[in-house]
Amino acid sequence: MAEHNAAPAAYAKPLPRITPDNRPFWEAARRHELHLPHCADCARAFWPPGPVCPWCFEENLSWRALSGRGVISSWVLFHRAWFPSFAGDIPYAVVQVELEEGPRLTSGTLNLPHDRLAVGLPVEVAFDDVTPAITLPKFRARRN
Ligand SMILES: [Zn+2]
Repeated sequence: MAEHNAAPAAYAKPLPRITPDNRPFWEAARRHELHLPHCADCARAFWPPGPVCPWCFEENLSWRALSGRGVISSWVLFHRAWFPSFAGDIPYAVVQVELEEGPRLTSGTLNLPHDRLAVGLPVEVAFDDVTPAITLPKFRARRN
């Protein structure tokens, strides 16, 4: 009898390194939510996380949910597999997205045709559950 329930091949691409500073980001992503550090003193979100606000250097920080909406501020199409595990994806897109709340995130795309890649394209976060423990926030074209 053919094997119908073979486990999918293990995820071979690089995975994020979880640290005390970024753990809330990855825990939220696992729940399909986008959370970033927020400063209560100057009311700004920021990324990457750190012990103080990069704008006003105060320490009154908390993690907050963001809209997940933004626009592409930069993008690149990779035609070379710098990691062998990406060879099957060539060419693949990497985008920098300026979120509505201000911070810029660099990530991949989900179901975003390459001919639509453009600075200013409205996008929204889309969550890619790559392993049982890790979900990667990626971006797709916004539907509204
Ligand atoms: Zn601040």
